[in-house]
Amino acid sequence: MTSTKKKPVPKCNQSSKWKRGVRERIAAQQKQNSKKKATKNSKPQAKFLPWERQPVTCPYCSRRAMLVTGQVIYPHRPDLHDLNFWLCDHCKAYVGTHKAGLGWGNGTRPKGTLADEPTRRARRAAHAAFDPFWQKGDLSRRKAYAWLAESLGLSVEETHLGAFDVATCQRVIELCVARRSQLSDDCLL
Ligand SMILES: [Zn+2]
Repeated sequence: MTSTKKKPVPKCNQSSKWKRGVRERIAAQQKQNSKKKATKNSKPQAKFLPWERQPVTCPYCSRRAMLVTGQVIYPHRPDLHDLNFWLCDHCKAYVGTHKAGLGWGNGTRPKGTLADEPTRRARRAAHAAFDPFWQKGDLSRRKAYAWLAESLGLSVEETHLGAFDVATCQRVIELCVARRSQLSDDCLL
C-alpha cells in the first residue's frame, strides 16, 4: 500500500505562479506605502516662520518682547483675558498668539510680527478685504493666498498678513478691490 500523503513542497520549489503572486503582493504593498507617504508629505507642515522663533523681538526697537495675557492688552475685554500676546514694553507694539491645542503650539506662538497701532489697523483692514475671497467660497484658502502672493510678487511662504507693514497692507486692499470689481464686471457680461 502506497501512501497518498504528499510531502510539503519547499517554498523555493513552489510554482512560478506562487512566486509571481508574492511579487505582486509586495509591489502592491510598496505602491500603497508610497501613496501613504505622498499623502503625508502633501499635508502642510507646521514649520516655524521667522517671527515665530523665540526669543520674540520687537521689529521697531529690537528689544525682547514679553509674553502677557489679554488682561494687560485689553483690560476691558474679559473675553480676551485668556489669550496670550507678545508685547514690547518700550514701543507698546504687540501681536496675538495662536490658541493652544489647535496644532500651533502651546499658545505662545506669535501670529505675526509685533505691530504698532497704525500697522494693526492696516492688517485688520487687509484681512477684511482679503478673507472674504476664501471665507465666502469664491476661492479655496490655498488658491486665494497663491493669487495674493503672485500679485504681490512674493512667495507663498512670505505672504502673511500678520507680517505685513502698512504699505503692503494697502497694496493688498487695492488688489482685493480691483479683483472684486473685475468679478462684478464679469457677472454683468
Ligand atoms: Zn519695541
